[in-house]
Amino acid sequence: MIKIPFLRPNLIKHDTLIPYLTEIESSRIYSNFGPLNTRFEQRVMDEYFDHLGAVTTVNNATIGLMLAISQSKRPKGKYVLMPSFTFAATPLAAIWCGLEPFFVDIDSDNWCMDEKMVRECLQILGDEVAAVLPYATFGTHMNLDFYRQIHESGIPVVVDAAASFGVTDNHNHFGKGFPGCVVYSFHATKSFGVGEGGLVYSANPEFISRIRQAENFGFSTNRETDLLGLNGKISEYTAAIALSTLDIFDDKIKARQQIYNWYLEQLDHKDLLNKGWAVQKTVGVIPYQFMSMCCPDGLHNRDIIHSLASQNIEARTYFAPPCHQHPLLNGYPHTPLPVTEQISNRIVSLPLWEEMTNQDVRLIVEGMVPS
Ligand SMILES: *Cc1c(COP(=O)(O)O)cnc(C)c1O
Repeated sequence: MIKIPFLRPNLIKHDTLIPYLTEIESSRIYSNFGPLNTRFEQRVMDEYFDHLGAVTTVNNATIGLMLAISQSKRPKGKYVLMPSFTFAATPLAAIWCGLEPFFVDIDSDNWCMDEKMVRECLQILGDEVAAVLPYATFGTHMNLDFYRQIHESGIPVVVDAAASFGVTDNHNHFGKGFPGCVVYSFHATKSFGVGEGGLVYSANPEFISRIRQAENFGFSTNRETDLLGLNGKISEYTAAIALSTLDIFDDKIKARQQIYNWYLEQLDHKDLLNKGWAVQKTVGVIPYQFMSMCCPDGLHNRDIIHSLASQNIEARTYFAPPCHQHPLLNGYPHTPLPVTEQISNRIVSLPLWEEMTNQDVRLIVEGMVPS
């Protein structure tokens, strides 16, 4: 019997949805960028992006990545540079666009793509690079200046910001002002969870209007398909959940940060950060999706997971195996990946959900140190 599950998604309660459901019943509009969807997008532009650029909702971030890559890739390119230390959706989106992932190693501090290696790959691969796809690992507010330069030099950049909705640094939302595409996930297991959903942002409204056309079968204004489309829209029911979630999101962000801070306190109390354990070096105010740690170099993460499981505590190892070790993905080209391999042997993803208590955190931290 599980005492502490890994995640316990806590979506909006049904009573807050009732006014929205009543609106849907009277508008009789159920999808196709309806009034609730429009209101959600406007609130997001107002409350998170200061009206700089544009957004469009999508039915999940994987579709959002596919649309963003296909609407921005260089026509003669073949590769999408991306980390291997990411979720399988990142390379899969590139493959669905007819491209090949090219895996690049990560930085050992922030666990995002190593910028020096990205630069080297761009030099070596030249015009074969169709796009660059950094992942803001576990929601860290990565500095996008490096990628802005790449994008402005003519190599399109799409940011996988799946865990980053609600992330701020100095009150600036992550991605705001970025001229390429930034893709956020609203999956139930993400901090802004609606079930299935996502959002694409760009400071360049032209990208967003093309993506909006592409996610509606590629229809132009006279309902003729003139670009490679699919159906990527959300329903008005999803928009209702998203609108309700906006009202309470600040509390969710605070709750998640509180739990993260309890973890730091317990780690400090046990002096684990001086005994080989490590946390990701992050920037900004992050509504953590779960707690990511590296166990000491000599240990293996599966032993930590077993130790926790024997105490009925559920933990995971995101992202182990890293993408380049998955059966479908292991034939794609990559740089040497020593940091990715080292971190994925040590990574432990610990429970983090909004009703957790300090006592739960204490049990977890005590439970993960093999006696
Ligand atoms: C969750 C996640 C995705 C996919 O998001 P969906 O909305 O479930 O499609 C993509 N990339 C990363 C890094 C993720 O964590």
